[in-house]
Amino acid sequence: MVIAIALISAAALRGVFFYASHADDENTAYDGKVEHIFTHELIFDTAKAFSPKNSVRDCFDKDHLTAAEFKALLGELYKNGYVLVSLDNVINGKIAVPRGKKPLVMSFDDMTYDTVNRGCVDKIIISDGKLCDYTKNAEPKISRDRENVTILESFIEEHPDFSCDGARATLCVNGYNGILGYRCTPDCNVSEQRQAEDVSACKKLVAELKRLGYEFASHTYYHRYFKSSSASAIEKDCAAWQKYIQPIVGESRVLCYPAGEHNAKSEKNAIFGRYGFYVFLCVGDYAGTDYERASKDAKYYYRLPFDGTALRLYEKPYARIADTRAIYDETRFRPFSYKGSYHK
Ligand SMILES: [Zn+2]
Repeated sequence: MVIAIALISAAALRGVFFYASHADDENTAYDGKVEHIFTHELIFDTAKAFSPKNSVRDCFDKDHLTAAEFKALLGELYKNGYVLVSLDNVINGKIAVPRGKKPLVMSFDDMTYDTVNRGCVDKIIISDGKLCDYTKNAEPKISRDRENVTILESFIEEHPDFSCDGARATLCVNGYNGILGYRCTPDCNVSEQRQAEDVSACKKLVAELKRLGYEFASHTYYHRYFKSSSASAIEKDCAAWQKYIQPIVGESRVLCYPAGEHNAKSEKNAIFGRYGFYVFLCVGDYAGTDYERASKDAKYYYRLPFDGTALRLYEKPYARIADTRAIYDETRFRPFSYKGSYHK
């Protein structure tokens, strides 16, 4: 009898210890604010991108981060206790993070790679079974530290706890010039054979990205700005997305407005709904209008841009996320102190 009690006690104690250590590892439900940040494709060659010979260097300076800045941003996020969570889990209301950590959603827009040889990579590829970036205009041609997704993968390899439950970023892609460097739509003006080859290669890449935890959203097929688009233009855009991009990236309920432009009450917005989109990604340090927050059949999430403009202008409001001054790449052609000419 004594022995039996001792056995039970030992088992109970083991249970307690097991439970305690297990509970420490477990994520706890989180119902506070979830930060969402986004950026575009990165500039890895600042000399080329910011050369006076580059006619779009002004846009690059305003709208992009450099690879060095993105690496520094990840370091800041990690240091400040953020962990990546998936947009899907946020939409489903299943947000759980390790105790003391703060959830963060990350998305990357465009990634079309149509500014060839201006300091950005040409495409994302799989090489030796690993996600890599590729450019024919630099050595080595294949790397894992020149673009957002590859830098993120390298960072998570070093800091696995930065990704909560395998979360990665959401890729908000267009279609007018293909996606991720693959000329996979008729608008790319390549031969039918090249288009078919790119569709096939891109599908393999997408499968690998999804396996890693990446999610996909429509950033509209033609990168259409909401305000200046007619209802029929939005209809045509959605149809093109459904025909050419959805077969490659799969169905998505997430629509990312170009430049964040939208009007939730507009009839035009209802067109997106008819194509299956009811989660909308907007831009701003904002919780949404009363109408958006009260909406029962759609969700609106506001995202903070990380780019040259934001690093310079939003040092104070962004301090809760990252020290933008510390991130800033001094090889840009404009100093951190430059604050002008951003607004049209
Ligand atoms: Zn865009």
